[in-house]
Amino acid sequence: MNNQVCENHEKCPIFSGALKGKEMTGQSYRKQFCEAGMDGKNKCKRYMVKQKVGSCPPNLLPNSLKSVEQIINEFSI
Ligand code: SF4
Repeated sequence: MNNQVCENHEKCPIFSGALKGKEMTGQSYRKQFCEAGMDGKNKCKRYMVKQKVGSCPPNLLPNSLKSVEQIINEFSI
């Protein structure tokens, strides 16, 4: 598999375009975050939250303005 692609992509609603109402922006998220190697993943809040606590709120956007800590506290994960 292309190692530029995030290893979380199989279950990620952003990658699959399944995030409700966000289908139009799914493509640009994929380019910016999911298919951009380490640099892309390291900018993705979904990736960062999952790295830290092992899961991620389903509707979190990769470019959320909240900090990882805020997200974790807010969603109690
Ligand atoms: S949105 Fe983030 S966690 Fe999901 S596949 Fe893309 S880079 Fe990975």
